[in-house]
Amino acid sequence: AKQLPGCSYTFYEEKLPPNEPPAPSVLAADIWTALKLSQFELYYQPRIDLASGQIVGAEALMRWNHPERGLIMPDDFIPVSEHTGQIVPMGFWAIMQAGRDLKTLHSNGLRLEKLGINLSFRQFQNDTLAETIKRIVSLENIDTNILEFELTESSLFSDDLHVKHSVDQLCSTGIDFSLDDFGTGYSSFSLLQKLPVSTLKIDRSFVAGLPDNSGDAEIVRAIISLARNMKKRVIAEGVETEQQLAFLREHQCDQAQGFLYSKPVPLPAFMKMLRASASAHL
Ligand code: C2E
Ligand code: MG
Ligand code: MG
Ligand code: MG
Repeated sequence: AKQLPGCSYTFYEEKLPPNEPPAPSVLAADIWTALKLSQFELYYQPRIDLASGQIVGAEALMRWNHPERGLIMPDDFIPVSEHTGQIVPMGFWAIMQAGRDLKTLHSNGLRLEKLGINLSFRQFQNDTLAETIKRIVSLENIDTNILEFELTESSLFSDDLHVKHSVDQLCSTGIDFSLDDFGTGYSSFSLLQKLPVSTLKIDRSFVAGLPDNSGDAEIVRAIISLARNMKKRVIAEGVETEQQLAFLREHQCDQAQGFLYSKPVPLPAFMKMLRASASAHL
């Protein structure tokens, strides 16, 4: 077991058994180094409450500050790390870091209702998922009411016993779940029955066609009314235009997230935004 810098406890083993042959990428070898040298960083994208216009939450999104390649985006390293199993310790790191960033917010008098953290299907294949999360949450003193784990439908598609066990255990922590990229998977409706999901995040491919594409508009309307009937929060992802926003407001979507408001930004920039949002609504 290895410790990370600035962390008094361990949450990963040096070698994780890959479940498939390693991906043909030079990046995989660098990921351990990146964890040890703190090259990963969480960026934050605000979630805006459409009724008040205020920032009420955020999503934490991983970035890799690579010494030679510069800023690497998740699509270029998450799939590799899922392949090798390295997403497991990276995911634990993200929860620890999010907890520390929340503390920074609080000590600056700033608050969030919810902070979304993405979980990969690979993390559910790890027997110690819930146990380790409980340990991190308690050692870092994280308020579990603020956390919300973002799951994609594919992350839970498997009928694997490990997955079921992990989900049950995770439910016992009381941490909320949201369904990410909602509408794009295979088993949305059955998952809604199986999991104590509190939030639906409408996939941005449907938001992109608003308001003119009648197919997309119908789907978005349907997801919003499904969420309302099931007493769940609904968030539109990938909101880029005023027209999309107007449609979502008109149909009483709860929250929006997208480039129209802000791209994901580093913590200091996010804190500035949050401060401005709070003072505009005093
Ligand atoms: P996601 O969880 O669906 O995150 C939303 C993605 O949409 C982010 O991309 C965000 O930058 C992007 N986005 C937000 N608003 C807009 C918009 O208005 N227009 C467009 N075109 N894009 C928008 P990002 O940060 O590149 O992350 C991509 C994916 O990587 C995430 O999709 C998530 O599946 C994965 N990911 C990121 N961080 C983590 C992590 O810490 N753990 C895990 N397991 N996966 C992560
Ligand atoms: Mg997400
Ligand atoms: Mg998403
Ligand atoms: Mg996605």
